[in-house]
Amino acid sequence: MKNKNKKSYSYKKNGWTYIHVSGDPKERGYDYGFICAKDFKEIQHMLGYLMFETFGHTWEYFIEEINKSFKTMTKEEFPELYQEMEGIAEGCIAGGTKTSLDEIIAWNFYMSIPYWYSYKSDSHTGKEGGGNKADDKCSAFMAVGDWTSDGKIVVAHNSFTDYIDGQYSNIILDLNPTNGNRFIMQTSPCWIWSGTDFFVTSAGIIGTETTIGGFQPYSEKYPIGYRIRKAMQYGNNLDDYVEILLDGNSGDYANSWLFGDTKNNEIMRLELGLKYHSLSRTKNGYFIGFNAPYDPRIRNLEVVNSGFYDIRRHQGARKVRLQELMDKYKGKLNIAVAQKIISDHYDVYLKKDNNPCSRTVCSHYDLDAREYMSQGDRPKPFSPHGAVDGIVCDTKLAQNMSFVGRFGNSCGIAFDKDKFCKEHIQYANFCSFLKNRPSQPWTEFKSYNLDKKKPANKNINIKINKSQLVRVEDKNYFVTNDKISRTYYTDENIEYIEPKNITIRKKQINIKSMKNKKINRIKINKTNKNTKTNTKNRTNKNKLKKN
Ligand SMILES: [Zn+2]
Repeated sequence: MKNKNKKSYSYKKNGWTYIHVSGDPKERGYDYGFICAKDFKEIQHMLGYLMFETFGHTWEYFIEEINKSFKTMTKEEFPELYQEMEGIAEGCIAGGTKTSLDEIIAWNFYMSIPYWYSYKSDSHTGKEGGGNKADDKCSAFMAVGDWTSDGKIVVAHNSFTDYIDGQYSNIILDLNPTNGNRFIMQTSPCWIWSGTDFFVTSAGIIGTETTIGGFQPYSEKYPIGYRIRKAMQYGNNLDDYVEILLDGNSGDYANSWLFGDTKNNEIMRLELGLKYHSLSRTKNGYFIGFNAPYDPRIRNLEVVNSGFYDIRRHQGARKVRLQELMDKYKGKLNIAVAQKIISDHYDVYLKKDNNPCSRTVCSHYDLDAREYMSQGDRPKPFSPHGAVDGIVCDTKLAQNMSFVGRFGNSCGIAFDKDKFCKEHIQYANFCSFLKNRPSQPWTEFKSYNLDKKKPANKNINIKINKSQLVRVEDKNYFVTNDKISRTYYTDENIEYIEPKNITIRKKQINIKSMKNKKINRIKINKTNKNTKTNTKNRTNKNKLKKN
């Protein structure tokens, strides 16, 4: 199957996979699905295990039931998203992973499943939370005015989550739709929304959130994924976000949302319960996120056991610590300080400086014996759970459609799955699904305006590795994978995703076809004299194999 859109590209860097897609819903969805096909196959394998293990129902059961509830509604009320997901399913299939539109719809509903399922089954069963529907995830802050070094917005966020599924949220998707705002967000393969959440849009909005833990009520209307995606694509100011998120509110994945408008440097916190919500806005102040709501109505009437004042728990502990850090760095908050804060390991309960555990801003449940657990149904001792990333941004970066992220966790401590599984054999059944997360550096990602960009005329160095990955050491060139006619954009020293038949084109006008066995002429630096030959050999060899 031929691809329809040569404008898409993708590369891997420091644990992340950057993907750019653009165009109409179906074509951009197709390209996104195609690029994610291999990852999605792994996710299917994981879900096949995890859903049955957690709920006693198969993933197929959830696909069927979720589509009974939401497929028609999606098609009628969110046709653009429906078409995009159709494209994703088709792209995935073309990329070698068997799936369906129904499965993509269900996967995009994944974060809402515990809420919807509890309501539907009346069983109050859910992932790691027992009687509570809502997981506790994420630390965040957003600050402006006297708190930041330039008076503009500074924001930081990390996602903590079960490693088995959270380890897939390493996609940076830059989506440039035909209609509405372009946006760049952290997400998981084949999701049409962020889920974690962190995003920046071409309307100048930065958005993130922390979940409201122990949240109970649910009402089946529009899923949160659709609402926040609509806000990202069509919301142009903070008022739009409030209006769109409240329209069809289901109470699923109830969050304390933090939004910043870089056009006027105003920030907003929206605590979004179901029956209740509360709104705070400022151009001079800060908001922190620690999985418990300030609004007493939400905290007492919609949430069970919020942990708001309990510093043995991560809600109360981080409420204290993030406040301390905001005070400590008042007037100094910038990108470097934000990285420091979101990686913080100070334990306010034990008053220990460096004690990475469930209570710290950068969360490490896998290192926590939970001696001080005050609620038995929250994560168990040494759970494979905790921060899997960190993202920081400010007004300046957001206005360039960029942010700085670190995958693995916020602090850079490596997660070694074999070591973990050896020490905690109660989780041995998870181990074949867990991945190592090595220490990674903070990395800036930017939404390149590639659709209009023309590559410069420079020399290019190409190295073919044994693994058939190709490294192109130049910012200004494209690599095309002729087999799938896909364009990869090169950024500083990037390894590409499984390019098999590679041609390098020096300029866009100089495209050569593999079918005619014309390897384009590239000026090679003397140090890389053999490269051209290597490319040719590799290419012909692959071609032979294929034939
Ligand atoms: Zn840490």
